[in-house]
Amino acid sequence: MDDCIFCKIIAKSIPSETVFENEDLIIFKDINPKARHHLLVVPKKHIPMIKDLNTEEGDGDLVGRMVLAARDIAKEMNLSGYQLQFNVDKSGGQVVFHIHLHLLSNG
Ligand code: AMP
Ligand code: ZN
Repeated sequence: MDDCIFCKIIAKSIPSETVFENEDLIIFKDINPKARHHLLVVPKKHIPMIKDLNTEEGDGDLVGRMVLAARDIAKEMNLSGYQLQFNVDKSGGQVVFHIHLHLLSNG
């Protein structure tokens, strides 16, 4: 997706503060943090939003891997508690239309 900012981050054509990357996910710091720790867990596959998940293509498992990656990085960072949030569609507060899981924590 040529005009997708997260696809550009995944392709390294724009910089990010990446804290984790594997074959299907990237985790980087949110540019405008809304908590002391604010990370975005982003699949490399371009899926605009939760409404577009395709179970036949294995997207259910992908979302599971996103949640587990968030759990693992939170553990690595010694976060005692955190919030995991998906914003869905414009009226749900979504601004970037490439699915991402917010990991927010103040401790
Ligand atoms: P959402 O409202 O769920 O679509 O969240 C999009 C998030 O992406 C916001 O919290 C933005 O601060 C964040 N964001 C936008 N552009 C960048 C970027 N270039 N690098 C890191 N985070 C970004
Ligand atoms: Zn994208």
